[in-house]
Amino acid sequence: MEKKKLSCPTGHGEMKLASKQKHMTFKGVGIDYPMVCFICPTCGLEAGTLSQGADIQKNMADSYRKKIGLMTGSEIIEGRKKQNLTQEKLANMMKVGIASIKRWETGIIQSKSMDKMLRQALSGELCGDLLTGNRSLSIPRIKLALRYLEKVLDMKVLKENDRMLYAAKYMWYIDMKAYRETGQSVTGATYAALPMGPQLNNYKDLVAAIIKAYEKEAEPLTEQEKLIIEKVACTFPSTKSVYSASHRETVWEEKSPGHFIPYSDAFRLTEL
Ligand SMILES: [Zn+2]
Repeated sequence: MEKKKLSCPTGHGEMKLASKQKHMTFKGVGIDYPMVCFICPTCGLEAGTLSQGADIQKNMADSYRKKIGLMTGSEIIEGRKKQNLTQEKLANMMKVGIASIKRWETGIIQSKSMDKMLRQALSGELCGDLLTGNRSLSIPRIKLALRYLEKVLDMKVLKENDRMLYAAKYMWYIDMKAYRETGQSVTGATYAALPMGPQLNNYKDLVAAIIKAYEKEAEPLTEQEKLIIEKVACTFPSTKSVYSASHRETVWEEKSPGHFIPYSDAFRLTEL
């Protein structure tokens, strides 16, 4: 509590520090929030210091967030500490800037879709291993796996300029199945639920690198991994079949666009 004293500007002398419950309509929602400020006992004038003003803003934002079902600043902080995450680590997991985390924690209101992702991250669902399937990302290995898949399917899957529309879905099934059966993905890729289906996270940056990658640099596929790729090829002999199967998966359907599909979802696949 601040020791600062304020005098009423109209000359009634010292104002009293008071805390009261306020009600207002904020972004179309009626909210109640606590407010600490100075009040003149004679004329009722309210005045606050800068830090009181900041607290009021924060209380308003939190009351609004509570009302519409978003995480409040303190819930975000508590959740983060429970998961033992720094602001930086949480930002990296969510692929947002650290400034966003700081703002949400101090009272700027996050969007609904960011809120969902925050909850996903703070529930432990997005911990590094579950995003990469216990392997660090290897772009040459993505190419290697796709080349092996192409050999089995006897058709080209990795095409330039098609944004890996089908290749990514095959890779997704291969990585998920490998995680389910071996506890480790084949490529270390992270997948996101996009409107066109499961897709490599940041695929726009990855496609060119995958096409250019030299697959001989990758760690060779194990016999078990080859079998997994063969099984995926056998289950989805056409690009059309892998496309429609992936669109029937609840783990894709249930996520908002852009959200990660953790490897723990491998156990909930229905088409493979
Ligand atoms: Zn006064």
